[in-house]
Amino acid sequence: MSEFDDLYAANAKFAKKFGRSGLTGRAARGLAVVTCMDSRIDPLGLLGLKPGDAKILRNAGARVTDDVLRTLVLAVYVLGVDRVLVMPHTDCGMSKVTDPDVHALTQERGVDTRSLEFHTVPDQNEALRHDLTRIRSTPFLPQSMPVAGAIYDVHTGRLTPSPH
Ligand SMILES: [Zn+2]
Repeated sequence: MSEFDDLYAANAKFAKKFGRSGLTGRAARGLAVVTCMDSRIDPLGLLGLKPGDAKILRNAGARVTDDVLRTLVLAVYVLGVDRVLVMPHTDCGMSKVTDPDVHALTQERGVDTRSLEFHTVPDQNEALRHDLTRIRSTPFLPQSMPVAGAIYDVHTGRLTPSPH
């Protein structure tokens, strides 16, 4: 018995109906989406995608970190990605705290996180502009690759393309 038994049981049912998938690891729709770990976001569903269509990169705040850049390079050169959508969302927890806030919270539990950078988001538009620029200006990705930003509204399900 473990804290994960509910998941293993659900998977046994899932696998029974799964059959064999002919999908490869390449993104069939040539898309990578960078979005937040927020549990209200269904990236495939809200974009009309299905498994096999896109690479989904998720972290706190949909931030373009060094690891996201590393992953995008692999996605582009190895796994068929030729366009990138950065998709933060409304009501994001990362916009409600600052790095010092998080350090203070962990300190209360006796943990010192000051060596970690949380990439919290004081200004969502500014963060998105910064993150789009990071992808567009990296020397490791094709300069001609389409890169867009859009903010997902977790209350209405609507996606608003960013002017940046
Ligand atoms: Zn979020």
